[in-house]
Amino acid sequence: MSAATDSPETDVATAVAAAAELLGSARDVTLLAHVQPDADALGSALALGTVLARRGAQVRVSFGSPAGAPESLRPLDALGLLVPPDEVPAAPDLLVMCDTAAVERLGSLADRLAAARASLLIDHHASNPGFGDVQVLDPSAEATAVLVHRVLTAMGAAIDATVGACLYAGLVTDTSGFRRAGPAAHRMAAQLLEAGVDVEAVLRPISDDHPFSWLGALADVLHDARLDPDAAGGLGLVSAVVPVALMERFRVEEVDGVVDLLRTASEADVAVVAKQVGPRRWSLSMRSRTVDVAAAAVALGGGGHPRAAGVTLDGEPAEVLDRLKAVLGR
Ligand code: 5GP
Ligand code: MN
Repeated sequence: MSAATDSPETDVATAVAAAAELLGSARDVTLLAHVQPDADALGSALALGTVLARRGAQVRVSFGSPAGAPESLRPLDALGLLVPPDEVPAAPDLLVMCDTAAVERLGSLADRLAAARASLLIDHHASNPGFGDVQVLDPSAEATAVLVHRVLTAMGAAIDATVGACLYAGLVTDTSGFRRAGPAAHRMAAQLLEAGVDVEAVLRPISDDHPFSWLGALADVLHDARLDPDAAGGLGLVSAVVPVALMERFRVEEVDGVVDLLRTASEADVAVVAKQVGPRRWSLSMRSRTVDVAAAAVALGGGGHPRAAGVTLDGEPAEVLDRLKAVLGR
C-alpha cells in the first residue's frame, strides 16, 4: 500500500486523463443515462453532450426507459440533444455511460456496449463491477456530476451557466442538498455559481414545482406507510407501497421523492418505497441512516450506495418486503 501509484486516487486521475483524451478527439458520441434517469445521470450526460456538441461533434443523449425524459429534467437539455432509444445507433462510435451502476441499468440499450467502437464509463457506485474501455469509477465521488466536472476540466472545456446547470442539478440531488457533500464538492458548487448558474432556476422544476394533484397522491401513500420497529436488526424500517394505480397519479420523478419523506421518520433507520413497475414486479428504493442498504440491495441482486440503494424484485408486495427484511436482519 506504500506506492502512491497504487492508490485509487491515482487510478481515477489516470482514467480522467484517458477520458478527456477520448472525448477530446471524438466526432460522434452517444451518451447514455441509466433507466428511469435522475438528475445526476441525465445532468452528467447532458453536461458532457453540450460541451461536445458545441465543439462540433455529432452528439445524442438517451436512456433505455421510460419513453420520455422526466418533465422536471427537460430544462437541462438546452441544445435538444435527447433522442428516444430507437434513435440510438446500433453500433455507436463512442459510447459514454453515465451513473450506470451495472450494464443492466442501461435497460434496452445494454446491447450497445458490446457493439460500440469505444466506450467510457463515468460512475460513482461502489457496487459497480466496472465495464467499458475507459472507466472513471470513483465511489468516493458524491455524484457522477463531480467526475464529469473533473473530466471537463481536464479537457480544458469552458463550463458556462448552461453546462453548469446540468452539473449542479446532479450534485445537489445526489448529495441530498449538500448534506453528503465534502469540501471539494462545495468548491465545485462555488465554481458553478461563479460560472453563472442560477440555483433557484435550476431547482424549481426539480424540487419545488408539482401539480396540485401531487399533494393528494402523496397524502394517500404516506397515510398507508408502515413502521416495523423490529426490522433491520431492531433499528426499525418504515415502508410504503405504491401500486400502479397510485403510480399513475405521480410523475415519475415524484414517486422517487416519496422515500425522502419516509426516511424522516425518527423511529426507523431504514426507509423503503416499493414502486410497482409490472404486474408482479416491484422496484424498491431504500434509504438509511446507518445500515448498509447497498449490501442488502446487492444480496438481492440490486445495487447502489451505503445510504441509498435499490433493487427490482418479483412477487407480491408483502413477500418482496419480507425478502428485504430477511437480508436487513442479517
Ligand atoms: P433510487 O432509490 O434513487 O432509485 O436509487 C438509489 C440508488 O440505488 C441509486 O444509486 C441507484 O443506482 C440504485 N438502484 C436503484 N434501483 C436499482 C436497481 O434496480 N438495481 C440496481 N443495481 N441499482 C439500483
Ligand atoms: Mn448518481
